[in-house]
Amino acid sequence: MSRSGRPDRPWGSIARSLPASTALAACAVLSLAACSGDSDASDKKSTSSASGVVSEEVSATVETEPVPHSGDAADDPAVWVDPADPSLSAIVATDKDGGLLVYDLAGRQLQYLQAGDMNNVDLRPAADGFTLGGRPVVLVVAGNRKSNTIGVFELDPATRQLRDVAGDAIEPDIEVYGSCLYRSAETGKVYVFVNSKTGEVQQWELTDGGSGRVVGEQVRSFAVKSQPEGCVADDELGHFYLGEETRGIWKFGAEPDAGDTGSLIAEASDSGPLVADVEGLAIAARPDGTGYLIASSQGDSSYAVYQREGENDYVGSFRIRDGGGIDGTSDTDGIDVAATPLGSSFPSGVFVAQDGENDGLTQNYKLVPLDRILPG
Ligand code: CA
Ligand code: CA
Ligand code: CA
Ligand code: CA
Repeated sequence: MSRSGRPDRPWGSIARSLPASTALAACAVLSLAACSGDSDASDKKSTSSASGVVSEEVSATVETEPVPHSGDAADDPAVWVDPADPSLSAIVATDKDGGLLVYDLAGRQLQYLQAGDMNNVDLRPAADGFTLGGRPVVLVVAGNRKSNTIGVFELDPATRQLRDVAGDAIEPDIEVYGSCLYRSAETGKVYVFVNSKTGEVQQWELTDGGSGRVVGEQVRSFAVKSQPEGCVADDELGHFYLGEETRGIWKFGAEPDAGDTGSLIAEASDSGPLVADVEGLAIAARPDGTGYLIASSQGDSSYAVYQREGENDYVGSFRIRDGGGIDGTSDTDGIDVAATPLGSSFPSGVFVAQDGENDGLTQNYKLVPLDRILPG
């Protein structure tokens, strides 16, 4: 789960032409009906009636090849955007009984790296400036539940193949479960957050340890009361979002000195829009600091969309249904989104979701053109 997509242009002119206040920004993505006669659009997060998404029922246009292992094996995707030719972008994803997979945007498997029991994966583009031996690399990080370590890999932009670049084992003294990356806009430093089923969260700084290998140093720890997993960092705005699976979505400061106090920006509820378990989180980032936070509402197999900025007002929800010969999604764990044009198949970006039931085959990942979901 990540906000690895780095938009190179805003989505459209409608939202940009409106005043930037939170309430009006919320209205810009809500339907007219939802806004009319309602002077307090900021209350929308407490209801499930708001519908600022393009459609509440979408279908995928691409599904990946099934993962190698049976059962609940697929878990989490991360989108790498190829800056040279965005149509050659790739999905890095986990098989939690086998390792990491790389797929192209047509869903074809380009690599299966048997690296361990990889649960969550996240990445940052070379443009973010993480260097090994002075060379900027596409940094890919995944929690390995077999060795209880943080796996570190480099994605070669030319071959779209992963290579292990971990130095001394990065071994948190908690049981590795969820994980995600944060690249500080303030300092340029890169961190990985890792959490355990018992609620502990650790933040580790990643650096070039010399000889082309990545090392880590723990810089912070805090906790939530029950099992978390899904997480995502907002690099530009400095937030760290964490799903406490039966409770809701927490927002913490992402800098190592931000303390241990978070705010619960969305609460899980049987009536929705966020139905436990809260699973994957992803950020659709616009360059101007606006955009959306998307959460897998696993309990009702939907995805809840919130404003990225301000108080994270609830925008709307959608489901991925059967369509075009591709089955819909259910029981989704990890998700990711890239809100940038990726060629003719995904003209405004892509939303990727793990699917719990893949027509009797092993699990896989579904790809939905972003313009079917989010307003342009
Ligand atoms: Ca699952
Ligand atoms: Ca989980
Ligand atoms: Ca399915
Ligand atoms: Ca999961």
